[in-house]
Amino acid sequence: MEENLSAILYGKNDLRIENRSIPEPGPGEVQLQMQDVGICGSDVHYWTNGRIGNFILTSPMLLGHEASGVVSKLGQGVTNLKIGDRVAVEPGVPCRMCKFCKTGRYNLCTEIRFCATPPIDGNLARYYCHAADFCYKLPDHVSTEEGALLEPLSVGVHACRRAGVTIDSTVLISGAGPIGLCCYLTAKAMGAKQICITDVDDNRLKFAKNIGVHHALSVRSKTSEEMATQIETTLGQRPEISIECSGNPAGLKNCMLATGNGGCVVMVGMQPDEVTVPLLNAAVREVDIRGTFRYANCYPTALSMIATGQVDAKPLITHRYKLEDSLKAFEHAKTMRDGAVKIMIRCAQG
Ligand SMILES: [Zn+2]
Ligand SMILES: [Zn+2]
Repeated sequence: MEENLSAILYGKNDLRIENRSIPEPGPGEVQLQMQDVGICGSDVHYWTNGRIGNFILTSPMLLGHEASGVVSKLGQGVTNLKIGDRVAVEPGVPCRMCKFCKTGRYNLCTEIRFCATPPIDGNLARYYCHAADFCYKLPDHVSTEEGALLEPLSVGVHACRRAGVTIDSTVLISGAGPIGLCCYLTAKAMGAKQICITDVDDNRLKFAKNIGVHHALSVRSKTSEEMATQIETTLGQRPEISIECSGNPAGLKNCMLATGNGGCVVMVGMQPDEVTVPLLNAAVREVDIRGTFRYANCYPTALSMIATGQVDAKPLITHRYKLEDSLKAFEHAKTMRDGAVKIMIRCAQG
């Protein structure tokens, strides 16, 4: 059997690195020699819990969805790419037929096949096949690591679009993990005038300052009311937009109280099913609360931000592992020790 080393999740806390056969591209697909795959919190969560909400692992599944590769074979009918092209892989391929797909909101398609969401395989492997129209050719000066970073950056692009970030916006970002930082980089590129980011972890706040965040505030041992006041004082006004990336109900409460009248709170972090929040306070001040789910039509924008130099996402990568050492990489991602932000796995040999 030809070698296709793959990181396969068999069950809770059972990740194995083993060989599978090299897949052949179907019609409209390309075979990719995988280059770089970033580890996402969701990959770690499936590994440690075997499920996220209603998505439950019932059979072995490849992990990984923040990926780039080099085209190694063309399936029937593929004309947009050629062998040797370096591409970023948009991991969700929708049905292309339903109302949501046809109106451009394909992230809401109920038939979407998204990498490393059970039962769909991810792409943490040497070789992987993907729909050619969900692969984006990288210009020569954009690295394949940056290509992999287009995935979390697309989450930032979608969140900022849903929030209406524009030139002159004042923005609060709750949570300084990889997604919070991607929202920050995107909001800045979209022209936000002032951005404040909050977290419980001082090391994360320090990291945020190192990549250019002016206002990084600790939320530890403070009430939401105290935070709202401190954020207003820091920014010189209440934020018009808050982007909640922590997934913590306290973070959502902070956002709702801090956001100015007529503003908007966008939810990116996965909250528990039911949470207690100051809903009436938000309602009578006409603060909109908006959900987000992944992204749609964001990869070209994320790529443009990188290719033009408007965003430098490379500093987000703090650690690198080889595919063979994926288990070590996941152990590292579980604890996020040594100031880990984005851990990248190199899938290509040599
Ligand atoms: Zn992810
Ligand atoms: Zn659809």
